[in-house]
Order: sequence, then C-alpha cells, then structure tokens
Amino acid sequence: MNICRKKAIVFIVSILLAVASVLSLTSCSQTKDAIKRETVITAPPPSISFEVVQTQEPMPFITYLQPLPTETIKDTHTPLPLEGIVIGLDPGHQAHQNTEKEPVEPGSSVMKKKVSAGTWGSTTHIYEYEVVLNVALELRDLLKQAGATVYMTREVNDVDISNIERAKFFNEHNVDLGIRIHCNSSDDTSKAGAFILIPDKKHTKHFDFIKECANNILSAYGDATGISTKYGIVERDDQTGFNWCSVPVINIEMGHMSNKTEELKLVDSNFQKKMARGIFNGVAECFKK
Ligand SMILES: [Zn+2]
Repeated sequence: MNICRKKAIVFIVSILLAVASVLSLTSCSQTKDAIKRETVITAPPPSISFEVVQTQEPMPFITYLQPLPTETIKDTHTPLPLEGIVIGLDPGHQAHQNTEKEPVEPGSSVMKKKVSAGTWGSTTHIYEYEVVLNVALELRDLLKQAGATVYMTREVNDVDISNIERAKFFNEHNVDLGIRIHCNSSDDTSKAGAFILIPDKKHTKHFDFIKECANNILSAYGDATGISTKYGIVERDDQTGFNWCSVPVINIEMGHMSNKTEELKLVDSNFQKKMARGIFNGVAECFKK
C-alpha cells in the first residue's frame, strides 16, 4: 500500500470516527433530557388532603318490609273523661243592663228585659256579672282540660247579648248541656245557699236528663264549697234563657250576694276556684261513661 492510499484511509476513518462521536454526543444529550423529563414527571405530587365524609349506610330494603313490633302500633290513647262532650257556658248579665224587652218564649206576649242588671255585694261593691264571669272562666279551663269542647256566650263583661240570643247560642252550638251561671239576692239578708233552676216539663224535652244532671251538679257544688244546697232544684216556666233553648240547660244560683258571709266567699278568687271545681265535678258525673 502506498502512502497516499494510507492517508486516504486514515482520513476516511477519522471522518467516520468524528461522525460517530457527534452522533454519540447527540444521543447522550437526548438521554439527559429524557432523564430530566422523567425527573419532572416522577416528582411527588403536591400533597392534597381529602376530607373523609361518612355517609349513613342505607337500610337494607328488607328492613322496611318487616312488621313493626306489636307494642308500637297498639293504640295507647286514653280518652279524657269529657272527650266528645260539648258544654255551653253563659255567665249571667253584663256590665250594663239592656232594658229593651223581648218575649219570654216564642209566640208569647209576655215581655221581659233583654238583660237585667243582676245583683251585687253591698259590702264589697262587686257585681254579680263579675263574679259569674270569673267562675265561668275557671270552669271553662277545667272542662277543656277534661277534653270537653266549651262555648261561652261571653268572656268579657262589656257586651250586649240578650237572653234570647244566649239561648240561641246554645242551640246553634248544639251543646250537650248549657250552664247559665248566676248569683242570687234576697231582701232577707239572712237567706244563704245555692240552688239550681231548671225548665219545667212543658218547656224542655230533656227534662229527665236535666233534672238528674242538676242534682249531680248541686250536690258536687255543695261538697266542694260547703255552701248550703237546701233549696235544691227549682222548676221554672218564666225564664227567657230556658224557653228559647232546645238543648239541655240549667241555671245555677251559686249563692246569695245579699248575705254578707256568703258575699265575702263568692267574691274571693280562691273560693271561686272551688265553686268552679264543684260545678265541674257535677258535670263530669253527668257525662260519666
Ligand atoms: Zn243573675
């Protein structure tokens, strides 16, 4: 081989080595980049916190189909003693009497005051219309607590409701018993005691029930208050409040305001609670199941 040829070969080999070196460097550079990229990709992600929310497991469907325990569905409702009973209360009179007249019964020419003034206590100067409203309100509460439905003709003193209107009020509410609440007076100031007025047989178709009920109420009233009941049950045919009434009705005269000893009891708020309790006990007896 001549020198010239050797030089040529060396030259070519040199070029090839140079090219190989360049290619090798390029490959190396790509690998480094790849490592770099890999490093970026595999870097740990920023820490993310998750809130753990506990959800209630739905009840298995079969649970809904299971019958309730017997004691759960058993009716444990105990009826109150006067549940289903409707009582009407009419506290007698009002702050100002109404002297206009109205017939004492349907078709009658006999006329009476629409509302009379009522009586009052000469010692305390407290009026009947105040005493009877206090007792009626106490009685209303007791009756309601015992499950009765109660309708009152008035809950304040300053009204103007005639005796016919009061009777019709009981009719309209179809009460099982209407109770007219009054106090009595007498020229004889020694006279004391309670009694109950009821319509006579000609003026009511509920006479037997009314009489039995009146006896229950008067007896219970005497027991609760100690007030004498010696005057008993009195039948009347001249009461507007009875004669226009088609449902059972009574009128309790709770005592005599004309008697000083009794007046002081009748106006006393604690004693009024006893009076209401006594009437209530009698009503409960009337409708005992
Ligand atoms: Zn009266």
